[in-house]
Amino acid sequence: MQQTNIKNAYEHNHYPDERGHFGDYGGKFVPENLMAVLAELEAAYKDAQQDPAFQEELKRELSSYVGRPTTLHYVPRFSERVGKNVKIYLKREDLAHTGAHKINNALGQGMLAKRMGKKRIIAETGAGQHGVATATICAKLGLDCIIYMGEVDIQRQSLNVFRMKLLGAEVRSVNSGTKTLKDAINEAIRDWVTNVETTFYMFGTAAGPAPYPRIVRDFQAVIGIEARQQIMQQEGRLPDSIYACIGGGSNAIGIFYPFADAPEVKLIGVEAGGSSMEEGQHASTLVAGRPGVLHGAMSYLLQSDDGQILDTHSISAGLDYPGVGPEHSYMKDTGRATYVSANDATALKGLEVLSRTEGIIPALESAHAIGYVLEQGEQGNIPEGSLIVINLSGRGDKDMMTVAKAFNVQL
Ligand SMILES: *Cc1c(COP(=O)(O)O)cnc(C)c1O
Repeated sequence: MQQTNIKNAYEHNHYPDERGHFGDYGGKFVPENLMAVLAELEAAYKDAQQDPAFQEELKRELSSYVGRPTTLHYVPRFSERVGKNVKIYLKREDLAHTGAHKINNALGQGMLAKRMGKKRIIAETGAGQHGVATATICAKLGLDCIIYMGEVDIQRQSLNVFRMKLLGAEVRSVNSGTKTLKDAINEAIRDWVTNVETTFYMFGTAAGPAPYPRIVRDFQAVIGIEARQQIMQQEGRLPDSIYACIGGGSNAIGIFYPFADAPEVKLIGVEAGGSSMEEGQHASTLVAGRPGVLHGAMSYLLQSDDGQILDTHSISAGLDYPGVGPEHSYMKDTGRATYVSANDATALKGLEVLSRTEGIIPALESAHAIGYVLEQGEQGNIPEGSLIVINLSGRGDKDMMTVAKAFNVQL
C-alpha cells in the first residue's frame, strides 16, 4: 500500500464528537421537546451498536433480505471510454433489494425502532425512494408506516406512491411551501413533535439533527466496508479515487467513510448542476452554498443573501435538495473530500453511455457521478492507469418516464 505523509483529520479521530458535531457542522437545532427524544434515540443506538445480538441480526438480514454483499463490478467497455489503461469498478447498490442503497439505512433504523418499542414509523420522501424503502421495512417488521410527501412529488411520482400504498403505508400529502421534499421534512418533524412517545422518525439521508447523520452514515458504511475488502481482493490495492453522487449525502458518506483514514484515496462528491448554475436552477449545495441551519443541523445550504432557502432543480428528484449532511461540509472545509457538480445533460449522457457499453441502466442520481467521470476522461483529466470506484447508488427503472421525456420519446 502506498505510503504518504499527508495529514488527515480522520487518521487519528473519529467523527462526530460527543455533541454530534463534525467540526463546526451538525448539532441539534430543534424545538425543546425534541431534545429528550434525540437523547433517547442516541442512547438506544449506542446500546444496539454494542449488542452483538443486534449486530448479528442486522448482518443476517443484510445478507438474506437485502442481498449483500453487493458486487464490486469491473466495467471494461465503459473504462475504455474514460481513458487509456483506466480501470473503473462500480459498487452495485442497484442490485440491493428495492433497487438502491436506501434499504441499508431503512433496515437498520427499522430494527432500532422495534428495539425501542416504537410501533408508529414516520418518514419523509421526495422522489419516493426512501418512502418505498421505509414502507418495505415496515411491512417486513410489522410496523405502522406514514409517509409525508409533497403534493408536487405525489403528482410526479405516482408509481412510487402506489408502491408505498401496496406495501401498506399511508401517504400524506404536504401542501405547504414548494410542496416538495423540504416541506415534507418540515411536516414530518411537526408530526414527530406531537407524537414523540409512540413515534420513530426514520430519516432518509445523512442529514438532520444529531444523532441522525451518524446513524445513517454507520448503516450505509457497509457499502464502503465491502468495497474496501473487494478492491483489495480484486486489485490488491486501494483505488486512486472514489466518486459518488450527493443529494443529502448518504450513499456518498457510506462509501467515503471507510476510506477516510486513507489519504491517498481521493474522495469526490458529485452534486446536481441542474439546467444551469444560476440561482434556483441547480442543487449544488456544497459547490455554491454557504453555511446555515436547516432541518436541525448546521451545514452548507442553498440560501439567498437574506437567508431564504432557495428553490432547487435537478433532472433527478433524489438530488433535488437545498441542504446536505454536515459530515460532507466538514470534509469539504478540511479538504478530505472534493465536491463538484454535473448538470442534467451530463447525467443523461452518463446514463446512455453506461447503458450501451455495459448493459447497466443507472438511476439518474448515480448517472451524475458516471457522467462526470466520463466527461473528465474525455477532457483528458483522468490520469492514465487510474483505478476508480464509482458508487452506483441505484437502478434506473424508476426514471424511464423522465429519460424518455428528456429524449423527446413518447411512451
Ligand atoms: C435518494 C437517492 C440518492 C440521493 O440520496 P443520498 O442520501 O445523497 O444518497 C442517490 N441515488 C439514489 C438511487 C437515490 O434513491
